[in-house]
Amino acid sequence: MNIMINSYLRGRERLETVSGKKIVLTASATEMSDFLNNPFIAFSGGFGKGPIPLSYVRKTLYPHRPPLADGQASYVPYGLRKVESILIEGGFSSNDIAVAYPEDLDKFIGPETRVVGISSMDPTGMGYVSKTYSSIVGGGEPMNRIEFRKLVNHPAIKKYKKNLKIIVGGYGSWQLERQHVSQSYGVDCVLMGGRPGPIVELFKKAINGEPLPHIAKADESLDNWNYNQEMPITKNVAIHGAVEISKGCGRNCQFCTPTMQHKIDVPLEKIMKEVALSVAQGSDHITLITEDMFLYGAKDPRFVPNREAVVKLFKTVGDYPGVKSIQAAHMSLAPVYHDPQMVKELAEILIAKSWYSFGKKPIITAETGIETGSPRLMKKYMAGKMLPFQPEQWQDVVTNAFGILNDNDWYPLATLIIGLPDEKEEDMLQTLELMDKLKDYNAFYVPLFFVPLENCVLMKQKGAEMDSLSKARWDFFIKCWEYNIKIWKPTFLENRLPNPLLYNTFDKFIIPYFGKILGAYYGLTRGASGEQFKQAVYQLSMPMPDNGRRVKGKVKAKA
Ligand code: SF4
Repeated sequence: MNIMINSYLRGRERLETVSGKKIVLTASATEMSDFLNNPFIAFSGGFGKGPIPLSYVRKTLYPHRPPLADGQASYVPYGLRKVESILIEGGFSSNDIAVAYPEDLDKFIGPETRVVGISSMDPTGMGYVSKTYSSIVGGGEPMNRIEFRKLVNHPAIKKYKKNLKIIVGGYGSWQLERQHVSQSYGVDCVLMGGRPGPIVELFKKAINGEPLPHIAKADESLDNWNYNQEMPITKNVAIHGAVEISKGCGRNCQFCTPTMQHKIDVPLEKIMKEVALSVAQGSDHITLITEDMFLYGAKDPRFVPNREAVVKLFKTVGDYPGVKSIQAAHMSLAPVYHDPQMVKELAEILIAKSWYSFGKKPIITAETGIETGSPRLMKKYMAGKMLPFQPEQWQDVVTNAFGILNDNDWYPLATLIIGLPDEKEEDMLQTLELMDKLKDYNAFYVPLFFVPLENCVLMKQKGAEMDSLSKARWDFFIKCWEYNIKIWKPTFLENRLPNPLLYNTFDKFIIPYFGKILGAYYGLTRGASGEQFKQAVYQLSMPMPDNGRRVKGKVKAKA
């Protein structure tokens, strides 16, 4: 007890005596984590935590890497690293800036602090994953929302709030305005966009104690400024060794924000400087940030890939001494169907640098958007997504691309959207038809509710909600998760339970038993849709036969 009191007093004392850095950059506890070195698990920040104590999920799901010797954060989101670099290049001294984990803010915020800059992807849980899974799975507010609120209410920020301004930027900052919470959270300025000049001006105003606009826009179209000239390279390593290779997309999907920006490729020498810096600062893993890895270097207006440029990029990164694994963030499917040879050549590089495995086999993955199986909706909202093909060919593009990818040990993580505006029953049935065609391929499917993101063409449209799940939408949702469980459960269990007896006990008895309990709970607590929930959980928790997964080049024979 004495130890606890002493350490509390030491903490209080530190709060009393620290003079503070002028600028403190931070993000919420979920966004500051590398999720045990797994970018795909980071999705779970959008889930509710249920009855599990916050301290436990912080330790077990989203712990932070140890801080540096001076107490600053070692691995932080890429966007925050860009802001750090923008400020230093914009004339601020690095001695006046600290980048800190939320739990260490009291070491850096003090009477001298003038700005706390917060970066956030999903501050109020309005992102696609949070919106979908916190309403379907339940468990209360998404962890992203809880942790962001904790951050803005941090005792060190509260204590010195009179002297400092809070600026929130990042991809999800718009959510604060949409939810009308920026004032109650004490946020002085919501920053949208990432152009360096306006960001530097904003921080200068805050340092000088000048009033800040409640909303600051630094999101001019990439047509209006020279991205590669103005955007500095990062000065310190980011989570998962993130390095940007391109910005924007240009395919014009109306539900998406990068659609507002045509694509800009970051020059290879700039990319390699960030790769070198990441390796030098301890990351042997490199995550390449892009909306479409296959279009690096492509100039064709119909989005025909530039094989030579893409292969050169991945080979150069892969050959850099100290790079052990490479992960690209996003890819589109049309280039795969258009140029299978490019996929083959890339796979030869990436398998040697793979981060994930399926059973004992190394695999490659990246996130891609299927979105829908309906050619009508493709034509209406995303007619550029399948270029150089036609909207009517979309199902063929998807199935052929999945075949080519699987043949090269490439298992995509695919998102699909439920409830696009004007989605009709026939559209959903076409998506179900596409899912039937995909049943033998290896992939991970993430069905998501449509969310009208800020700055996308459909931003004024209504988002999809839990109560809009028709029978076809519900069947589709369950089908996605049935595929996921069928494909991934054996690998997941084998990695943890190599003993066949234990494996079978879990698969055949323990998981179905908990499925019964959870199903009964949903049945009692989900009102009119309770029975639907109960049956779905029962179904998904039962052992599933391996009825013919695809193996290289062919579909495995049915068991
Ligand atoms: S292809 Fe992807 S990144 Fe590009 S506009 Fe469409 S959804 Fe957005």
